[in-house]
Parts: sequence; structure tokens; C-alpha cells
Amino acid sequence: MMKITVLGCGTYMPEIDKATSSYLARPGPQNLVFDIGRGSINNLLKAGLGVKDIDALFITHMHPDHCNDLLSLLHHTLNLGRRKTLMIYGPPGTRKAIEAVRKILKIGPKQHIALKDLRDRDKVEAKGWLVSCFAVKHSTKMKSLAYRLESGGKVFAYTGDCEDCKKMREAIKDADLAIIEANFAGARAGKGHLTAEQAAKAADESGVKRLVLTHIDPHHRKTLDKRKVKALFAGTTEMAEDLKEFRI
Ligand SMILES: [Zn+2]
Ligand SMILES: [Zn+2]
Repeated sequence: MMKITVLGCGTYMPEIDKATSSYLARPGPQNLVFDIGRGSINNLLKAGLGVKDIDALFITHMHPDHCNDLLSLLHHTLNLGRRKTLMIYGPPGTRKAIEAVRKILKIGPKQHIALKDLRDRDKVEAKGWLVSCFAVKHSTKMKSLAYRLESGGKVFAYTGDCEDCKKMREAIKDADLAIIEANFAGARAGKGHLTAEQAAKAADESGVKRLVLTHIDPHHRKTLDKRKVKALFAGTTEMAEDLKEFRI
């Protein structure tokens, strides 16, 4: 059994009741966090965990709505120390970016933190879980990864930000639970992000069992036709909310 908790489902548009992109997955005793957007650390505390409980952080890309609380995380790690190493993963360029920020803000030394860039098809394996990486299409200026976590025969997939592409579909293939971004809604189909309809269609065609739509722009949320979206996906469709928990 795997528990997934939404620590932030908001976007770059500030909303009073939403932190931005972050998801906690608990495959057994380890705590894996996918993205660490604004306000997500507060939600981690509300979920009953502390910062030093994070075993590994997987960043999808370096847009601020996916890594804003990284500074707090690094600062905290320095001040309070931790017994176990915090692994921080991200697409190519992540390690360099984090090292540069640490140097400028003087939040070093590197104690208890290990940074590692991941590429398409890379895998990170630990006792009881496996994370696979998929280079998805999002921004022309930076690399972006989707992640697929497998544990105990269950699959959790998280797209980060991306448009409908082959790699995204590989990442969510037959997932028990897929958290898919739907930043655009209705008629505003565009490059770099998915509409809710596109997300539902891709999930359906990829054999996803449970779909959670997230990262929906507040302006677009108003025009989102939930019935139409649900009709496109044979499984269960749910909307992400901060601190909502899923069990697979
Ligand atoms: Zn982005
Ligand atoms: Zn985003």
C-alpha cells in the first residue's frame, strides 16, 4: 500500500487556500517528495511530518511554482542538521542551479545533502521502491521530467508540467494513480501544458486507473466542464486539493 498526499496543487497564480506543486508519496517508511512549491513545507507539517523526515526530493523542473520552498529546505537542513542524507534529484541543470543559489545566499556547506541530476530513462532505486524518469515536453528553456514511482506492485505517476507527449504517456502507462497537470482548460489548448480534456484522454488511452487533475489555473478552473472531462476517462477522475490523501 502506498499513500500519496497533495502538499500543493496551486499554480504560479497565488491563491489563498493553495500551496503550489508538491506531492508526498510514502511507499513504506520512506518519505519521497515530488516538487516543493510555495507553501508546501507548511502543508508537510500539517500532514504530520517534519522537514527532516524527507528522504528524497524529486524536482520536475526549476520553475518557481515547483521549487519555491527549496530555499527553506536548504536553510533548515543547514541549521537543524539531519542524521540522514537528503537526496535531491532533478533534470539536468538542477545540481548546478542549486549549488549556485547556495553559494550566493551562503546557505552551505553541503552537509547532509546530495544533489544529483537525472536524465530520461534514469532510475533511482531504494529498498522497497523504484522511481523512473521521463523527459517530457514543457519549456524550450529548461528540461522537465515526469516521474513514475513503483512500490509493492503499485504505480504512482506524476507528470510535473508538460504537454501531451510520448514520454508523458510512457510515465503514466497503466498507473494505479496518476496526478496529471491540467493548467489549461476548455478551449485554451496550448503548448507546454495540458488541458483537462487532454489529460483525461491521455489517461484513458494509457490505461490509468485513477486520475487526479492538478495545477489548474484559477481563471481556467471556472470554465472547466467536469462532466465533459469525466466522460473522456473510463476510470475515476478527481480534483487535487491541498492535503487530500490517496491510497493505492
Ligand atoms: Zn513549469
Ligand atoms: Zn507549473
